[in-house]
Amino acid sequence: MRAVMLGLPGAGKGTQAERLAAHLGVVRISTGDIFRQAVRDQTPLGRQAQAYLERGELVPDEVTVGVVLERLQAPDCRAGFVLDGFPRNLTQARRLDEALAGLKQQVDAAIYLSVPEEVAVRRITGRRVCSRCGATYAADGVGPAASCPQCGGTLVQRPDDREEVVRQRLRVYENETRPLLEYYGARGVRVDVDGTGTVEEVFRALLSALRQRGLVGTAEAARRPGTSR
Ligand code: AMP
Repeated sequence: MRAVMLGLPGAGKGTQAERLAAHLGVVRISTGDIFRQAVRDQTPLGRQAQAYLERGELVPDEVTVGVVLERLQAPDCRAGFVLDGFPRNLTQARRLDEALAGLKQQVDAAIYLSVPEEVAVRRITGRRVCSRCGATYAADGVGPAASCPQCGGTLVQRPDDREEVVRQRLRVYENETRPLLEYYGARGVRVDVDGTGTVEEVFRALLSALRQRGLVGTAEAARRPGTSR
């Protein structure tokens, strides 16, 4: 399956994309993770992207589209993928469609995780990321832990999760990303999922919605989440 995730920053796209990709045995590609890693490593891409991330603005399309289309050519994408954080505007969506059409492929599902803005903001301001490996945690999920359960790195707030940057990211979402709901709706591939429950509840709802559209098998969708690949 080739899926893209849509929804406000803080809607749970990363978490659910990871679960879905593991369930389907395909790769999850997060443009935000790619850019953050590049910034940490101070590669040419990282130096180009850094100021945009810090301001909560979109990295220019010519940079982002190039990164994604190159990544999609890797052999591990042949079986499918879950894109998390891309596309973020109509230009990116059209470029993705063109590239896939050239391979006789298409986006099978545009999964929209809907949450009220106040829920998204609460999740964003609460989350912490590992400054070493980039893993993300809900603040209430790690309790008082100050270090990453996976690698021992220090947990910090993402610089762009500060309130003033979050406000800018929400503006960008409204102006640039929200129109994608209509774009994928018109193509008949939009799958709406209530994103307000627990991780488990949302994942079950997501699989159920995909099953209803025949995008995952019945037996597969009935398996308990997290127990399968
Ligand atoms: P995310 O982790 O998806 O919230 O992305 C963090 C930041 O990375 C965004 O605020 C943008 O600055 C940048 N970014 C991620 N994905 C894209 C994209 N598809 N287009 C442009 N910028 C992006």
